[in-house]
Amino acid sequence: MSCEFVFFSDLNVDFVPRKEIDNGKFVRNPEKPERLTGVLGYLNKKFQSGSVVEFSEEWILKVHTEKYFKYIVKKSQEVSGEYIPEVFFVDLIFDTGTPINNLTYIAAKRAVDVALSAAECSFTSGKVTYALTRPPGHHAMRSFGGGYCYFNNVAIAAKFFEEKGMKVAILDVDFHHGNGTQDIFYADPNVLYVSLHGDPKEFYPWYSGFEDEIGEGKGRGKNINIPLPRGTDGRIYFEALRKALEKIQEFSPDVFLLSLGTDTHVKDPVGKFSLKSEDYKIAGRLIADATSKVKYKVLVHEGGYNHYSNLSAVKNFLEGFLS
Ligand SMILES: [Zn+2]
Repeated sequence: MSCEFVFFSDLNVDFVPRKEIDNGKFVRNPEKPERLTGVLGYLNKKFQSGSVVEFSEEWILKVHTEKYFKYIVKKSQEVSGEYIPEVFFVDLIFDTGTPINNLTYIAAKRAVDVALSAAECSFTSGKVTYALTRPPGHHAMRSFGGGYCYFNNVAIAAKFFEEKGMKVAILDVDFHHGNGTQDIFYADPNVLYVSLHGDPKEFYPWYSGFEDEIGEGKGRGKNINIPLPRGTDGRIYFEALRKALEKIQEFSPDVFLLSLGTDTHVKDPVGKFSLKSEDYKIAGRLIADATSKVKYKVLVHEGGYNHYSNLSAVKNFLEGFLS
């Protein structure tokens, strides 16, 4: 297995969800493969790619229920064309934006392999690695998929390290709250989850991401949500990011995982923040400085729905983060 900076699988481009129901109408699903082609071109030109290894399905079952896992496998095998989940609790998908086709299981499992290969490479070499995962993962809960996510890639990468006795901090900077990652680690004292996102009073996933969700049981205090208003610009964002990074430093993790969504960019059609391309360089620098003592670091790709802003955000972020 070659251990380099970028991990990606062509299988993650072959998966094409076509439709979703938005405001009662069928629309083109924005989680399309083209959203990553610019990023992939840039990463391939600038960095070496590591080989993606196949991991056991057991890894998925460490963060998802068997019932949910089997649902995705079976539905994906049985469906002809594209199935749009319709009723919560009939389908184990909590929205109408997350269709299932014949490639869903294969692509989602491959995204897990990508995240785990990046985690293993970081663990064996101490290098920073980048898992260019698609479909994304942070909305996938223990028992339900949703938000274009089927299996929670970053949560499975966190388990990889947690099982080695390590403390893991996950910073989620996607525009949307990572309700799935929160759900999986809500009572877990070894995994700190910190998320900066659009206020759920106004934005998806609506039911979670509020400040008073702080974790439970032994995990109390290990879940930190920082909801931000529509139009958040660099000034507001960096203040919140500094606060998030202080919490991560207090936790003193062995591992730092970043759920890197770029739908915070002003040009993103889904997210509603106003971050400019150059802001990502500053964010990258701030995050690198605050995590300089952390032994293992893995970046895991999440949302971002504009070809131009995805590329520009990732490029600027890495220039700041790796400089
Ligand atoms: Zn998002």
